[in-house]
Amino acid sequence: MKISVIGTGYVGLVTGTCLAETGNEVLCIDINEDKVKQMQQGIVPIYEPHLDVLFERNIKANRLRFSTSLEEGLKHGDIIFLALPTPEDEDGSADLSYVLGAATDIGKLIKDYKVIVDKSTVPVGTSEKVQETIAKETDVPFDVVSNPEFLREGFAVDDFLKPERIVIGSSSDRATQLMEKLYKPFVRSGNPIIIMDEKSAELTKYAANSFLATKITFMNEIANFCEKVGADVDLVRIGMGTDSRIGKRFLFPGIGYGGSCFPKDVKALHKSGKENNYDFDILNSVIKINDVQKKVLIPRIVSYFNQNLKDKTFAIWGLAFKPETDDIREAPALYIIEELLKQGATLNVFDPEAMPNVKKKFGEQLNYTSNMYEATKNADALIICTEWSIFRTPDFNKLKQNMSQPAIFDGRNLYDVKDMKSTGFYYNSIGRQAVN
Ligand code: NAD
Repeated sequence: MKISVIGTGYVGLVTGTCLAETGNEVLCIDINEDKVKQMQQGIVPIYEPHLDVLFERNIKANRLRFSTSLEEGLKHGDIIFLALPTPEDEDGSADLSYVLGAATDIGKLIKDYKVIVDKSTVPVGTSEKVQETIAKETDVPFDVVSNPEFLREGFAVDDFLKPERIVIGSSSDRATQLMEKLYKPFVRSGNPIIIMDEKSAELTKYAANSFLATKITFMNEIANFCEKVGADVDLVRIGMGTDSRIGKRFLFPGIGYGGSCFPKDVKALHKSGKENNYDFDILNSVIKINDVQKKVLIPRIVSYFNQNLKDKTFAIWGLAFKPETDDIREAPALYIIEELLKQGATLNVFDPEAMPNVKKKFGEQLNYTSNMYEATKNADALIICTEWSIFRTPDFNKLKQNMSQPAIFDGRNLYDVKDMKSTGFYYNSIGRQAVN
């Protein structure tokens, strides 16, 4: 099939590349000329494990091409995917200007029947808006389908190639059949393609993300309570997670959820509720609790150093919002960095992939180091913000030699509290008692 993907970010590039992998001819369109130039030269502009291999293979096979021209995209694809940003607007709602802007342009350029597929995460009713926006510009027939994406950064290729489910919101048999044909190779193991109406599809995505954000937030509250009463959240987590109704996943407490999806999607669903006279009380709490949780280590650090961080140096391990990505959007590390800089601390930072993006944001305010140990040189404490696997078994003796003081504030509970007792470090983590 001939496919065009408009917007070539984390979702669009993975979608385009994986659809090329199953034999489709894919043209990816992006407004960012530098990005398109890079991709045309064979450079993957983001870090996403395993993407490079598929990217190279499909470019070589001439199944994957890149352009800045939407007109070319409209000529090429029978199915046009929109994988455009839907960032948080000032009032918390989803900013639909990218999606509706593209819809207007599509309306002006469309010459024959196309299926326009919305892969961006959008509020209930957006399909209708896209439909109306295109129809204002043209009489050419087209269908709009809602096809929310559930891939996770860091596992995006695997998630796309072997999805647990594919959701298709459509009221057109013609469009539904095309979508089923396109996705058939990805569900050979029997995972479902779930067909529903557009509104339910749009809401499915927000409901899934908001539920997961709520699950994390619930565990963060349990963790905070564990600290107050002397319980150990790791044990509580295992005790709870073995109940199959609860499940083991997404029960790990930490310094809050971040990323390009959960924060904005929870807020957008909350706002969407308000617009439809429904008060999502639970989401309001989730948003508030997560804002506090992102900075939960700060008062502990300030108190440990007697309210004065001016002449203190901190090593920060992990800047991306989660491991295996270079994405720093809404990363808890950024909030911690901002707060520590405000209080006059010196910061040596290290992340395996996200340093270039952090440098774009903080410039020369931070010391960027080339490995995790270099970051700890002369540090008064180490702060762990992202659970990259290379941080899981450090050489504690080396750390001790490097650091001015043996103190670790661990926002991701990477180490066993019992083990830490024998290392001679002050160790402060989430939902567990601090040890010396
Ligand atoms: P992104 O910011 O990484 O990529 C968006 C791309 O669109 C950028 O390359 C940008 O240059 C391009 N763009 C902007 N305006 C354009 C235009 N008019 N024409 C062509 N290209 C244009 O965004 P993303 O993370 O890929 O997210 C896209 C959508 O998918 C969002 O709605 C997001 O909520 C949703 N989503 C994201 C993820 C994720 O893990 N990142 C997962 C599921 C769903």
